[in-house]
Amino acid sequence: MRALCSAVMAVIFVLPADAAKAPVVVIDPGHDLRANAATEPIGPGSTIRKIKDGGGTRGVASGLAEADLNLRVALRLRALLEGAGVRVVMTRTTTTGTSIGNVARARIANEAGAALFLRIHADGSTDARARGTHTLYPALRRGWTDDVYTASKRVARIVQAELVLALGFPDRGLQERADFTGFNWSDVPVILVEMGFMTNPHEDRLLATPGYQRRSALGLCRGTLRALARPAASCE
Ligand SMILES: [Zn+2]
Repeated sequence: MRALCSAVMAVIFVLPADAAKAPVVVIDPGHDLRANAATEPIGPGSTIRKIKDGGGTRGVASGLAEADLNLRVALRLRALLEGAGVRVVMTRTTTTGTSIGNVARARIANEAGAALFLRIHADGSTDARARGTHTLYPALRRGWTDDVYTASKRVARIVQAELVLALGFPDRGLQERADFTGFNWSDVPVILVEMGFMTNPHEDRLLATPGYQRRSALGLCRGTLRALARPAASCE
């Protein structure tokens, strides 16, 4: 009885401690079924307002909506990260509504106390030849992003490298953005990946396949775990 009691005690005391240690990653699949033309301030206290969500792009060959592609990769990534012992919070799990906008997305990440706010997108261009993967992170602005700038830039570099390796698309590098509402409202490290161009027929056809969605999720998982100083091999 004594042995059983101590076993039970161990379970009671060990599990919550482990759960508390696990980092939280907030995955934000960009856009939703419908755009949102309402406006919101681009940063806390700003008089400059931007549209909440322009709606995203669409596959020129596949016809797939960006919101659907983003979610497919996000759901695969959630499974991989949870399998590796990371707690995941999603900003959405279906593509059925009007986009909640970028302030709301950032607030979800802030309230979760996320170790990383990972925003998943695919790009669009009027130039069908434009292709490749890039990762965006917040520009430095005192009072808005000074608390997350350095950490975000570091994570962007790591995740970009892993995503390029996983997808095999051209490396378009990193880009700082001062005009992203979801960056300026974030109080936790934040990056936005543009996996590839859905307006490029080649990249669109590949990204529309389950195989490439898996590759993308794997690259994002490895990058995230490396950034969190956890073994990237646990993504498999
Ligand atoms: Zn997008």
